[in-house]
This record gives sequence, structure tokens and C-alpha cells, in this order.
Amino acid sequence: MTKPWLKEWNRFTPQAIEEIKSHNDDTHLEKEWMSYVYEKNGRYYIGEASLGGESAISVIPAEKGVKDYATKGLKPAQRKWTIHGHPLKDGKIYNGRQYFSSVDLIDEFLEVRDSAKSGGRNRIVQFIVYPHEQIEKGEKVIHNRVRILEFPNSKTIVSAMKASNPKIDPFQITRENGMNKATQNGTALNDMGIDWFKFQEALGNTGYMGIVDIEGRDNGHYHPLAAETYMDRFTSMQRFAMLLLGVGASFYAYAEWDKRV
Ligand SMILES: [Zn+2]
Repeated sequence: MTKPWLKEWNRFTPQAIEEIKSHNDDTHLEKEWMSYVYEKNGRYYIGEASLGGESAISVIPAEKGVKDYATKGLKPAQRKWTIHGHPLKDGKIYNGRQYFSSVDLIDEFLEVRDSAKSGGRNRIVQFIVYPHEQIEKGEKVIHNRVRILEFPNSKTIVSAMKASNPKIDPFQITRENGMNKATQNGTALNDMGIDWFKFQEALGNTGYMGIVDIEGRDNGHYHPLAAETYMDRFTSMQRFAMLLLGVGASFYAYAEWDKRV
């Protein structure tokens, strides 16, 4: 049976996947990019990409929507989700940037968790694109990969939070205490002590998170070659490096786009 996250990925048209790949091929420029994902007749299309800096991007949703309609005929009513790229940083690949950041997740977590009361969306899907170094035919190559994450309903994300962070009460999480912030010694943690990486992996365990490699090997066709639920496991050193990485503005940047209406 196709897992829920892969079903979401499979809705992208081949053309949309080519566009996604082309945006991330500029990863050496170290610029983040973001597009809206639109649904038309059950398939996913992407709008124009907005470029940001190394670790920040902001758009005005209404203006962006007007542009997508003018350039691609995608209507505001068809807008569903966002996709964004985490490029190389300082010319390097960091494990932490291969995951969604706390900023990428916090508002969506709260919206889905509280949707029954607040009337917010009760299901949200997000996509990030990132470079990944891997071995192919004995050589190191960099491939673009996409991580797909679905928050299918309140109950599932609350369970995933409990499973991955057993000491934390999912209902006590707020925007303030759940978002990573830099501390004096240079690490980035949130006041609740949530491990957002583990949370994503817990969703992967239940079929709501996974990864595709979007490089084509067959005659230039770009299509998912591999689908997997897990990233390579972190060693403790990598894990430490990831925490350091979280310091930068990168983990804050995305709060801008959807929330500036
Ligand atoms: Zn992000």
C-alpha cells in the first residue's frame, strides 16, 4: 500500500518536479526559494519561486498569489501548501537543514492540533528540497532530495509528539516555547525541549514523512528514484553540529511568508 506521504508526492505533475529540481540546481547560489503548491484536478502544480537570501525569505502572500495567477493561471482558491528549498550553506551540506526547522513546523503544528476549536486547517502538508551527498557508482555526488511531511490530523501529530518526546505534553506547546532560539553558548533549543527532528521521524514511522531523490538517471528523466522514510541516522557529533547550526536566522526565516496576510 502506498504510504500517505508518498501519495502526496505522487500528485506532483512531472513538469512541477522538473521545476522543483531546476530551482534547487541553483543551490550553489545559497539562496532559499519558496513556491506555493496548487491543486488542480487532483494534481499538484507549483507557482513562481520567490528567492530569499542564504537563510531568509519573505513574501507577501496576496501579491505572490496575483503573480502566480498572471504567470501560470493558478488561482488563489487552488492554493494548498508551500514548498521551499534549503540550499547549501557556506558551501556545505548540514544534516539539520535536511529536515524541517522548528520555524517551519511550529505554526502548522499548533494549527492542526487546535483545529477542532479554532477552525484552522485540520490537515497540512509541507515539502522541503535540499542537497544530499551520496555515493553513486563509487563516486560522491550531490542529489536533490525532497522531504515530504504530512500533518494528517490532530490526533496523529499529538501521538507522534508523545512518542518522540515522551516528557513533553503536546498540549502545552506554544509558539513561544516551541520555537528554537539561540542561547548564549551558541546552541539552539526551545524552552519546551522539543526535539523536532525526532518528531519528524516519529511521523515517518506512521507513514506521514518520507524522502524522494529527484535526480534522474534514465535518459534525463527526472523522477523519484528512491523513497524512504528515514534520513541517515545521526551520530552524536553530527547531532551536536546540528544544534549549532540552528543558531542562525535560518530557523526563523520562514515564519514570514504565510503569516503576513
Ligand atoms: Zn525551512
